[in-house]
Amino acid sequence: MERGPQQASFPETMSPSSCIFCKIVAGEIPATVLYKDELVTAIRDLSPVAPTHALILSNKHVVSVNDATAEEEPLFGHLFTVARKIAELDGVTESGYRVVVNTGENGGQSVAHLHMHVIGGKAMSWPPG
Ligand code: AMP
Repeated sequence: MERGPQQASFPETMSPSSCIFCKIVAGEIPATVLYKDELVTAIRDLSPVAPTHALILSNKHVVSVNDATAEEEPLFGHLFTVARKIAELDGVTESGYRVVVNTGENGGQSVAHLHMHVIGGKAMSWPPG
């Protein structure tokens, strides 16, 4: 398997056994689950920044976009399919929404487990801070 550079630094601070998102996927920590299948689990963000703020978590402990190898394309592509489903669920398909995958320290990633934010229900500005 190809290995991205991030696997050698940032993610080492968190092993799957101590990963909060692994525990949510396993049902060991409560969360509002919106959708679940064999690859991902979508939940409401605990601290929403907009009326719609969902997180699509990979079910397995993948750290970030730096792990987006050819082998992982089904998972990474699937994040977008599920983002569309979440947008439909929350009725923001037409009004618009944002999908965000913060990556690494400068990208603002605070949980070292792959997740896509789906944010909508209000107008957002650009560029981000
Ligand atoms: P990021 O900064 O991109 O890594 O995003 C992490 C997100 O996880 C933040 O928006 C947090 O509010 C959210 N979060 C952290 N812990 C939980 C939790 N237990 N349940 C739901 N969302 C969480």
